[in-house]
Amino acid sequence: MRRLSHFPLLAAVLLAAVPHPAHPLSELETSQIRRFQDYLRICTAHPAPDYAGAAAFLLPYAASLGLRTATLHFSPCKSKPLLLLTWPGTDPSLPSILLNSHLDSVPAEPEHWIHPPYAAHHDPATGRVYARGAQDDKCLPVQYLEAIRGLQAAGFAPARTVHVSLVPDEEIGGEDGHEKFVQSEEFRALNVGFMLDEGQASLTDVYRVFYADRLVWKLIVKATGAPGHGSKLFDGAAVENLMDCIETVAGYRDAQFEKVKSGKYGPGEVVSVNPVYMNAGTPSPTVRILLVTLLYRFSQCTLIQ
Ligand SMILES: [Zn+2]
Repeated sequence: MRRLSHFPLLAAVLLAAVPHPAHPLSELETSQIRRFQDYLRICTAHPAPDYAGAAAFLLPYAASLGLRTATLHFSPCKSKPLLLLTWPGTDPSLPSILLNSHLDSVPAEPEHWIHPPYAAHHDPATGRVYARGAQDDKCLPVQYLEAIRGLQAAGFAPARTVHVSLVPDEEIGGEDGHEKFVQSEEFRALNVGFMLDEGQASLTDVYRVFYADRLVWKLIVKATGAPGHGSKLFDGAAVENLMDCIETVAGYRDAQFEKVKSGKYGPGEVVSVNPVYMNAGTPSPTVRILLVTLLYRFSQCTLIQ
């Protein structure tokens, strides 16, 4: 089985754009956008994702299309459902197709939003829908299900069985989600031959397919240094010691970024590194033996064979 891409770094994407309609929306398109909005209004952001609300919305949605539905649990308290929606193929002996997405999203800071993050505001002038999780990745299951609706309306019957999985906790590592799912008997029984996961949203009808994944390496740098009064110069202060590390990593970052800027490498072909958190200092005029913590996030693209 080949797993097609997922970009965790896209987790911070804030809005999804529905292509600006060149024509008045049809009744079907209007209802599709409404269903998308309904899903977006269920807050599945960490740290307290409403998985039950998402399941209560998605399971009847799938059942209305005639799909088989199942709810699996891999968390000890059974509070993190994994939804499995199935469109049976005409030849069940063939390896199946699995279309994956995740139920959860990263948190939102409403004060930084131009529209409330869970209101799913639809701007008819631009066609855009604003909501946390709109791109990452609540647009996916809605697109999957609406594509199935369209194929059914066209009279298409798949030879291979098509499964749609909606997993919990992807944004926090997936330990109680996909990680246990792929080790389960239920997963083996699906006989998956091909899987498509999330990638990048597209504003046009062109969809890019990735065949690699980014892996995360978190590095915590702690620097200590000599104490001294803030009004004096002295060697070996903690921040001074940390600067060597920052400059080294910054140089590496520049070199990687230059490869992308040159156009010879794609963003997925280099190592990205970003300082994401720093904890240091004291309001006292005395520079004590400081402990400076700088958290870097390294991401490297690795081909999944
Ligand atoms: Zn995602």
